[in-house]
Amino acid sequence: MAITQTNDSDQPKRPYILIVEDSPTTLAVISSHLSEYVDIISASNGEQAWELIQQDHDIKLVLTDIVMPGLSGHQLLVKIRKSDDPRIANLPVFMMTTGVDVTDKHLAFLNGVNDFLTKPIDPIELQARINVHHNLANTILELEASRNELKLQATTDPLTKLYNRRVFFEEGDKAMFTMLRYKTDLSLILLDIDYFKKVNDIYGHHAGDVVLVNVSRLLGSLVRHVDIVARIGGEEFCILLPGTNRLGAAVLAERIRKSIEATTTSVDEHKIQISISSGLVTASSENCDKFEDLVKIADKRLYLAKNSGRNRICVSDDGKSDYS
Ligand code: GH3
Ligand code: MG
Ligand code: MG
Ligand code: MG
Repeated sequence: MAITQTNDSDQPKRPYILIVEDSPTTLAVISSHLSEYVDIISASNGEQAWELIQQDHDIKLVLTDIVMPGLSGHQLLVKIRKSDDPRIANLPVFMMTTGVDVTDKHLAFLNGVNDFLTKPIDPIELQARINVHHNLANTILELEASRNELKLQATTDPLTKLYNRRVFFEEGDKAMFTMLRYKTDLSLILLDIDYFKKVNDIYGHHAGDVVLVNVSRLLGSLVRHVDIVARIGGEEFCILLPGTNRLGAAVLAERIRKSIEATTTSVDEHKIQISISSGLVTASSENCDKFEDLVKIADKRLYLAKNSGRNRICVSDDGKSDYS
C-alpha cells in the first residue's frame, strides 16, 4: 500500500533517493517497498555513495545503513555535512540500523542526521517520513526562488535589468570608502539621452523603451566586469568605474558617446538615432569624500555638456571635453 502524496505543483515530482546498503537482501526489500512511489539509485558502500552524491545532482535524499565495509554510515554523514557544496551539505540524510543502540542514534543526530529508523523498516512509516522531508526540501527551494526574485526586484530596473538607483548609491558609497582607504582610483560617468522626449513624441513610448533597452545593452557591452552600470532616472544612466583614472574614464565616455551616436535602433519601420551627453568625474582630482558629492559634480558637468550643445562629454567644471 502506498500513501497518496499531496503536492501543490502541477507536475508532482517523485522523490529521487539514494539507498546505501551493503546487504543485497535488505536493499531488495526496501527497494521493493519504495519503488512504487520513489525513484531509487543504490550504492553498496559509503565510498560508492559519496561518488554518486557528488556526480548525481538530482539525488534529493540519502537513506543509509550504518555498518558497512569501508566508509560507515556515520562517516558518510559527516562527509556530506562538511561538504563545501550547499547542495550536498543540506541533503536530507536518513540512517537505518538493526537493533536499538542509543549511542548510534545520538551520534547520528549529533552529526546532523534528519531521521533515524530501526530495521526491520516499516515501509508505511518510511514512506511518510520521506514525504515530509521531500516536501520540506521543495518548500525550501520555492522560498529560495522567491527570495532571489524579490532581491532582483529590489535591486534592478525592470525595463533594462540594470542596477537601480539604490544599488548604485550603495555601491558608490562602498567604492568611495575603498578609494579613500586604499588610495585607489574611482571615476564616474553620468550620462543622459539627448532630446529623449522627442523620441517618445515622434515614435511613441514603446519605441522609447526599446531605445532605453538598447542603450543599456550597449553600455553593458562596453564596460568591464567590475564596473557598475545603473539606470538612475528615466533616461539617465550612471557608470561607476572603480580603479579607473581620469584618462581611462574619459576614453570610455568618448567610446560610449561615439557608439551610441553610430547605433540605430529599429522599431517597426522606424530607424531611431540618438545621442547622449555625459559628465565625468574622478574622485582623486576633487576635494570630496562623499559619494553623493561626486555625483553632484558629475551632474553639474552633464548640465554643462547639455548647455554647450549636447552629444558631448564634459570632464571639468569649466565645461571642457578635452581630457588630455
Ligand atoms: P535633454 O537633452 O535636455 O535631456 O532632453 P530630454 O528630452 O531628453 O529630457 P527631458 O527631461 O525633457 O525628457 C526626458 C524624457 O524621458 C521624458 C520622459 O517621458 C522620458 N522617459 C522617462 N522614463 C522613460 C521610460 O521609462 N520610457 C520611455 N519611453 N520614456 C521615458
Ligand atoms: Mg550493513
Ligand atoms: Mg535627456
Ligand atoms: Mg534626463
